Amino acid sequence: MSAQPEAVVWDVPLRTRFRGLTRRDGVLVRGDAGWGEFSPFRDYDDVAATRWWRAAREAADVGWPEPVRTHVPVNVTVPAVDPELAHRIVSGSGGCRTAKVKVAEPGQPAGADEARLEAVRDALGPDGAVRVDANAAWDVDTAVARLAALDRAAGGLEYAEQPVPGVEDLAALRRRTHVPLAADEAVRRSDDPLAVARLQAADVVVLKVQPLGGVRACLELAERLGLPVVVSSALESSVGLAAGLALAAALPDLPHACGLATAALLAEDLVEDPLLPRDGMIEVRRTVPAPRLLEAAAAPPEVVAHWQSRLAAVTGRA
Ligand SMILES: [Mg+2]
Repeated sequence: MSAQPEAVVWDVPLRTRFRGLTRRDGVLVRGDAGWGEFSPFRDYDDVAATRWWRAAREAADVGWPEPVRTHVPVNVTVPAVDPELAHRIVSGSGGCRTAKVKVAEPGQPAGADEARLEAVRDALGPDGAVRVDANAAWDVDTAVARLAALDRAAGGLEYAEQPVPGVEDLAALRRRTHVPLAADEAVRRSDDPLAVARLQAADVVVLKVQPLGGVRACLELAERLGLPVVVSSALESSVGLAAGLALAAALPDLPHACGLATAALLAEDLVEDPLLPRDGMIEVRRTVPAPRLLEAAAAPPEVVAHWQSRLAAVTGRA
């Protein structure tokens, strides 16, 4: 292998608390093909992080397959916020016609999810699509009841993403609800991602480039799964998001909006022209970080130390 690629650690604030985080950080690496992003969350161990590293090296060293489309429809993501803010987020989303709404946030009062969904439907209008993500918070019985209530509040759900943990529970739930189901964690954090198809556990699969080891690895998995794919981000900067766009652009069929409009969740980005939606679509293109923005996103010493040890672990070098 060639010498270590150029690597830059970055750290930026989020606009709204998301996935329990108030900041996002990672490493950008540069190779012959361009820039790649390596940004595994802290709860992925070093073994899982090697897949994130393969995705970064694919972007930096090889590049991505030819796109079959120039633009990718995307959803606006609505965190577990109050109804007024949810309405504002959807209205200011750059024309997104699909909203993905976080539900089942611990500590929120009963009815908070319903109120948020009503506000989202109001902002989107009757022909928009509303999906929910419960991040595996419920058991099967709870999910049957909650999905019925949320489906009513939303005026119809496009699908529910991973309402219950694991592929067996997803398969059991799918037989007890008319709301279509999407598998996320059951693919991304499983040793057996094909079980979702085998057990007919989902109507849709969510694929994320970094956790699954790159654009080509995702294309191959999509083909073997044989289910409609929604490409989502891992809350990357606009450098990492370009890899998700490349996957969405290379899939033969793309029947649903993708979860790639997350650059707006970052208070600062690393490129001058972030990958934000216009008329509900993001243009497929590669991005290059701007030196002045990398400087502004310079990480404090403890964050740099974290990424140095991560890089050492995934490259097998001290
Ligand atoms: Mg999810």
